[in-house]
Amino acid sequence: MTPAAGARSEVLVRAPAKVNLELRVGPLRRDGFHQLATVYQAVSLYDTVCASPADDWDLDLAGRTTSGVPLDTTNLALRAAAALARAAGLGERAALHITKEIPVSGGMAGGSTDAAAALVACNRLWGLDWSLDELEPIAARLGSDIPFLLRGGTALGSGRGEQVVPVLAKGIYHWVFALAEEGLSTPEVYAECERLREAAAAEVDQPAPTADLLGALRAGDVRAVGRLLANDLQPAALSLQPGLAAILDEGLAQGALGGIVSGSGPTIAFLAAGREAALDLSVALIASGAVRDVRRAVGPVPGAQLDPTA
Ligand code: ATP
Repeated sequence: MTPAAGARSEVLVRAPAKVNLELRVGPLRRDGFHQLATVYQAVSLYDTVCASPADDWDLDLAGRTTSGVPLDTTNLALRAAAALARAAGLGERAALHITKEIPVSGGMAGGSTDAAAALVACNRLWGLDWSLDELEPIAARLGSDIPFLLRGGTALGSGRGEQVVPVLAKGIYHWVFALAEEGLSTPEVYAECERLREAAAAEVDQPAPTADLLGALRAGDVRAVGRLLANDLQPAALSLQPGLAAILDEGLAQGALGGIVSGSGPTIAFLAAGREAALDLSVALIASGAVRDVRRAVGPVPGAQLDPTA
C-alpha cells in the first residue's frame, strides 16, 4: 500500500504526562500483569515528537530529560511507529525527533507518552487518517498507559490499565511534581509490591476505584481529591527509595492538599489549592533542600495533539 493523498512532509505532535490520582493494584494475572483499577489524569508536562519521511527508521532526542532513553529500536516511539506501519500494511519508514521534558523512569509514563505521540504523528504523516478508536488496539498492545495518553483528560483505567473510559472531572488541578535524583524501574516496583504483600500475607482483592474520589472529581472538590489520592505502589516505591518519605512529609507540611508517589515513582505529585499555592509550594520544596527540582503542571489536559499551529 502507498501512503494516502493526505501524507505530509513533517508532523509535530505534543503529548502529556500522566498522574494516577488513584492506583489500585489487584492480583497478579496469568499474563504476568497485575489487575488494575486506576484514575488517570493527563497533566501539562509535555514531550513532543516530530515525524518526517525517511528511507529508514531514524531517531534523535533533545530536551531536558534524555538520559536513559534508548536510541535504538527498543524506543517506544519507534516501536509505535513501526507497529502502525505494520498494522496499516505500509512499507513506510520515518525519522522521529523527540523533545523530552517528562522525567525518565519517573512514574509519569514518558515513554508511553512518546509512543502515543508517534502514533498520532505517523497517522498524519502517512495520510492514514485513522480514528483514535482504530489506533487504540495498537496502543494497548504496546503498553498499558498508551490508550489513555491518546485521549487524555481524566479517565478510569481497568484491565492492566489499557481499558479506558472518561471520568467527569470539574475544575483545574494544580500539581507540583518533585523530581527524584534517580529513576525507579516499573517492573522492580511491582516485584517489590508482591514481595511486601507476600511478607505480610496480605489478601489481595479485585481492585476498584473509590466512589468518594469519583464523587469529588464530579463535584470539582479539589480539597477532597487531595485527601483521597491513593497509590497501592507507594509502599513499594518507598521501600526501594526510603528518602521519598521525607519529600512527601515536606510537601504536606508546606501546605499541599495531598501528596502521592506518581505511578511506580519515584516522582512525588503534590496537589495544590491553586496557581499561587503551587508556586509557593515549589519554592518551599526547593528551599527546604529536600528536592532537587520541581515541575508545575495543571490537569486535566487533552491527550496527544497535532501541533495546533501546523
Ligand atoms: P511507566 O510509568 O509508564 O511505567 P515511567 O514513567 O516510570 O514508566 P518511562 O520514562 O516511560 O518510565 O521509561 C521507562 C523505561 O522505558 C526507560 O528506562 C527507558 O529505558 C524505556 N524507554 C523506551 N522508550 C522510551 C522513551 N521514548 N522515553 C523514555 N523512556 C523510554
